[in-house]
Amino acid sequence: CGIVGIIGRDDVAERLVDGLQRLEYRGYDSAGIAVANGAGIAVRRAVGKLDNLKSDLKTDAPTGRVGIGHTRWATHGGATQSNAHPHKVGCVTLVHNGIIENHWALRVELEALGVRLSSETDSEVAAAWLDQLLGRAENLDEAFQQLLDTLVGSYALAVVFEGYPDLMFVARQGSPLAIGYGPGVEGGAAEIFVGSDALALAPFTDQVSYLEDGDWAAIRPDRVEIFDRQGAPVTRAVLTIAAED
Ligand code: GLU
Repeated sequence: CGIVGIIGRDDVAERLVDGLQRLEYRGYDSAGIAVANGAGIAVRRAVGKLDNLKSDLKTDAPTGRVGIGHTRWATHGGATQSNAHPHKVGCVTLVHNGIIENHWALRVELEALGVRLSSETDSEVAAAWLDQLLGRAENLDEAFQQLLDTLVGSYALAVVFEGYPDLMFVARQGSPLAIGYGPGVEGGAAEIFVGSDALALAPFTDQVSYLEDGDWAAIRPDRVEIFDRQGAPVTRAVLTIAAED
């Protein structure tokens, strides 16, 4: 299982799949991507090998410069199309690796609010919970922090939002997550990459920061802001990893 994310300058669908290919060694039973553009967020998911997703994309690749991708190792719900990530609920589209241990309690509360979920996963519950919080919080940062305060378990998360085509939120608790910096971050012309490990980022950049447990980040084309569990800004060292030939 694994996660990739790209805030790019060009269409990202193909590169998301390249990143997922690097994570194939972890094993998975479905794969999917979501790409944001001015018109909204398009989701493509396929059960089985990455090739299945690839052949769907051949005829129907979404365009957009910001996207997230996922390979799933099913823990809650079978290996089906509707359980495949990304999960889109309202304004929130999310990929998750790990296990949300309190998913059942949250699901019951959501259902009491009339929220209808379309998968059996713990992950979609997190997406739906965040969508609910967005309606009440002052801003996206506050809603995301509240989500992380609520979730019990392990997660690497990457989230994109309807109406915010230049923004990605990520978080790490118990499942690894790294941020890669493309050239030009100082000048604001960078591309930013997210991956479960440096291997997934290697085709794109050799400048990588590893999030620590409890960290989350708001990623925009010109800046990456990292916060700790309490929401205090932190810096994480940028390391140079082995370059790709
Ligand atoms: N628990 C989630 C699911 O079953 C995520 C699994 C994973 O880490 O890929 O969908």
